[in-house]
Amino acid sequence: MVESRQTDAVVLNCIEHGESDVIVTLFCQDVGRLSAIAKGAKKSKKRFVNKLELFSFLHITYQQKANRSLAFLAEADLHTGFLHIRQNLELYSIASAIREFLLIGIRENEPDISIFRLCLWALHNLDQKQPPLTVLSLFLIRFFDSVGYRPDLQNCARCSSQVTNDNRYSFDASNGRIVCSACSPHLLQKIPLSHGTIKILRSAQDQPIERLHRLKMSGSILYEAISLLQSYGNQLFQRDMASWKMVRKFLKK
Ligand SMILES: [Zn+2]
Repeated sequence: MVESRQTDAVVLNCIEHGESDVIVTLFCQDVGRLSAIAKGAKKSKKRFVNKLELFSFLHITYQQKANRSLAFLAEADLHTGFLHIRQNLELYSIASAIREFLLIGIRENEPDISIFRLCLWALHNLDQKQPPLTVLSLFLIRFFDSVGYRPDLQNCARCSSQVTNDNRYSFDASNGRIVCSACSPHLLQKIPLSHGTIKILRSAQDQPIERLHRLKMSGSILYEAISLLQSYGNQLFQRDMASWKMVRKFLKK
């Protein structure tokens, strides 16, 4: 007899399998990434209706045999389906970028409560129509931290001088550090960063998650932040996320 387990989970992927089944990829609070088969989910919709959709936040019951990577999804109850995200192209595009980062950043049997809370924070804030690109920026700066690659925004990487109001800076995505204009005159080759952008990103790194939504970003600060986070993410994961193309359409220079 295989033991049943229960946990909260967010749906990150759904694919149809055979005539009547659906295979879902879930971000679970208790085990991290989990692939599970929902038997009959395509045919008899009753049990899983409106639940196995991208971004849905569920409470699930599942069984997993030892040495099997595919679990059996027995039941799913909907906490929330984040309907606004699914009805709005911009919200959906930003949520898709978050989903893409989660799919490469989380692993099976490696629960991570800080990333799980961050994921729910981002989806809730998008669904409440908080400025989507700001939500993405705040999500990513914290996400990089949680996976062990916190950008160092305190001092110039070369001369170690502290960030000040009257200096100009750039971000070096290859090592996740900033360089002052005195040390690197060729700022054009890197991502320019104003003091204001550095300040707000540092604040985002250190705020308790309950206060993250208070940080406001717009104009050139938002533009610089997104550019930094995109190029740093590309460097870390050695790929350009497919969703960036869509995300950047909503970014005004
Ligand atoms: Zn310097």
